[in-house]
Amino acid sequence: MIVYESKLFKLQFIRNYIGITLSENLILFRDSKEKVHEHLANHEKGHEVQYAVLDTTLVPGKLDAIMIFWITYIFSYLWNLAKYKNHWMAYKNIIWERLAREFEDV
Ligand SMILES: [Zn+2]
Repeated sequence: MIVYESKLFKLQFIRNYIGITLSENLILFRDSKEKVHEHLANHEKGHEVQYAVLDTTLVPGKLDAIMIFWITYIFSYLWNLAKYKNHWMAYKNIIWERLAREFEDV
């Protein structure tokens, strides 16, 4: 399911973001469908593929896949934050974000 104009983006900790993929079947966008850029839509679809790959190969089970995704996502962020000492660099270099960027121009 894709949700546009999600109220979730009013929350303090994600208000600077414009899209988030919470599971293999749930993508939230801050803006309306007309305003979501194709690169962002492809990026979020990339995250969906990541969940699907985790679910079907590495850790079968949708809930396990979601947990593994977010545990490794947060760990990767914290690792990068220690390395770069900069939020934006830490975020951009999260392994899942780097891989999702490869989907942006597909
Ligand atoms: Zn992303």
